[in-house]
Amino acid sequence: MSTRTRFAPSPTGYLHVGGARTALFSWLHARKHGGRFILRIEDTDIERSTIESVNAILEGMTWLGLEYDEGPIYQTERFDRYKEVIQQLLDSGDAYRCYCTKEELERMRAEQMGRKEKPRYNGCCRPGAEPREGVNPVIRFRNPVEGAVIVDDLVRGKIVFNNSELDDLIIARSDGTPTYNLTVVVDDLDMGVTHVIRGDDHINNTPRQINILKALGAELPQYAHVPMILGDDGKRLSKRHGAVSVMQYREDGFLPEALLNYLVRLGWSYGDRELFSLDEMISLFDIKDVNKAASTFNSEKLLWLNHQYIMNSDPAHVAHHLSYQMGRLDIDPVDGPELVEVVKVQRERTKTLVEMAQNSAFFYRDFDCYDEKAARKNLKPAAVEALADMLDAFKALPDWSSEAIHKVVVETAELRELKLGKIAQPLRVAVAGGPVSPPIDITLELLGRERTVQRIERAIAWIEAQGTAV
Ligand code: GLU
Repeated sequence: MSTRTRFAPSPTGYLHVGGARTALFSWLHARKHGGRFILRIEDTDIERSTIESVNAILEGMTWLGLEYDEGPIYQTERFDRYKEVIQQLLDSGDAYRCYCTKEELERMRAEQMGRKEKPRYNGCCRPGAEPREGVNPVIRFRNPVEGAVIVDDLVRGKIVFNNSELDDLIIARSDGTPTYNLTVVVDDLDMGVTHVIRGDDHINNTPRQINILKALGAELPQYAHVPMILGDDGKRLSKRHGAVSVMQYREDGFLPEALLNYLVRLGWSYGDRELFSLDEMISLFDIKDVNKAASTFNSEKLLWLNHQYIMNSDPAHVAHHLSYQMGRLDIDPVDGPELVEVVKVQRERTKTLVEMAQNSAFFYRDFDCYDEKAARKNLKPAAVEALADMLDAFKALPDWSSEAIHKVVVETAELRELKLGKIAQPLRVAVAGGPVSPPIDITLELLGRERTVQRIERAIAWIEAQGTAV
């Protein structure tokens, strides 16, 4: 049977890194085995599900490039099918109506707790109960009482659940709506899912789902429960740990491949290798090699990976993502040098695209003011003569190239008997507004002659104005 995996998020929030990792593992498993990857939206909790969350999930998957072959399939569109299966289970005797009231169930629970027993449904209506006036029954699955469910989990290994531990689960509420375990089972069955890869918070649902699948005569999928992700304080990863929404990483200037590479290594390894292209992930990843133990999220390592990807990816690809950050700064990248050229000169020195965009903004628009410290140190009356020399030389340069620019800077230093740094740094602050930029000749070449000239003139005027002000 060909492999079919699914990612089945509940749309009650954004796509967080834990969900994204589960999706990635399912996607990799399908891609590795020539299978199909299905996206299923588990939106039956009408109160908590929102269309904004659905959009956030789809947006996150698209940005990460986790394309799905089928779906999105919405559970809310499948109520008729769930009803049909519930009826089938009632007809076969694998389910029954339970008329116990809320008060009775609460009393049952209190008594069990009083006896220090685990609270569970006592099977009161299991033999068959008469309808009761004014009570809309729930429908319970008739769980086997004997034997055990053995899950051969691809990550966890063999897990045994005794049926005596499982009570008769509600599969339809009193208003007729199906419950979570029922919908998952029907969907996994109808969608022909062969591998259920999900978070290990679902592990206790698995024996219940298997029992329902067996009652329906279904072939069982294989299960892989992926351990949770912890924050660096050892607690389950949550909002407290900062950016946990996938799209927040986009905002923060990460490349999607860097995040994917980071996520694949969270709980999976291949020797001590850190960098994997997507194709390498597909060929090397094996769900069976995923760690049983929880993994810890390490933001520093993600940042390191992002830097590796910024430095080593095709600059055109990086430019494509940098463009988004330029837009966020209200910069239209057509108003300056080709973004790809900017990437080439900035990539060694920036770890995120946010940083790259901020450090490159001066190529596209005038800055409002100089970095105070850099200006105090470099834009002094003593720098005016050298700046003025260079201004004249730049205006007259027949060819605006980094070589020609370099020559002007060196010759000015010689003429004024100054060290190169004493010339280059005032020039840098004049054109970039601050003390950091790529090598000055390359910076000026990219900036273009017109902007260079304007900014040197502006710096000279600024220095002179400072002088008058004192
Ligand atoms: N909807 C469930 C969740 O978001 C996943 C269920 C499953 O994968 O079986 O946690």
